[in-house]
Amino acid sequence: MPPTILQKDASILRQIAEAVPLENLKTAEFLELVANLKTALAAEPDGVAIAAAQIGQALRLFVVAKKVVGPEQADELIFINPTIIKRAKKTKMLEEGCLSVRGVYGLVKRAAKVSVSARDLNGQKFTYHASGFLAQIFQHEIDHLNGILFTDKTSRWLTRAVAPHHE
Ligand code: ZN
Repeated sequence: MPPTILQKDASILRQIAEAVPLENLKTAEFLELVANLKTALAAEPDGVAIAAAQIGQALRLFVVAKKVVGPEQADELIFINPTIIKRAKKTKMLEEGCLSVRGVYGLVKRAAKVSVSARDLNGQKFTYHASGFLAQIFQHEIDHLNGILFTDKTSRWLTRAVAPHHE
C-alpha cells in the first residue's frame, strides 16, 4: 500500500516544515521517507510532484515525477532544503490542482520562471532554473513547505480542469 496522502484539513499541511539536517541524509529513516514519497507519487496517475508534509513529515523536501522533466530524466528529482533564489517579474495565471485538495482546481498567479537552490541526496548543492510547468510546480511545492495551499492563492475557481494534474 502506498502511503496515505493527507488532505487539506490535516494540520501538518499548515506547518512551516523544518530543514532536513544534512547529517540525516544517509539514515535509513530519511531514505525510507524519500522512497515513500516516490511510492505515493507513483500511485497517483495524475500526480506530478509531492512534498514530505503531504505524507506526514514536516520536513523541507519534495519530489518531482520524472515524467514532468522529460524522457531523458531517469529518476525523480529530489529537492532537499530548497529555496527560490531568483524569480522572474513576469507572472502567469495557471491552472492548478493538489494531491491534498482533491477535486478542486483554480487559477493561481505564478512567476513565469524561478531558480531554485537545493541539496541532492548526497548533500550537494545544485541550482535548477525552471520555466513553465516546472516553475509552477516548484512554487507550489515550496508553498507546501511553508504551510501554504494553492487554495489560499486562487483567484478564480474552475469547475473542471482542462488538463488535471496534482502536485
Ligand atoms: Zn499540493
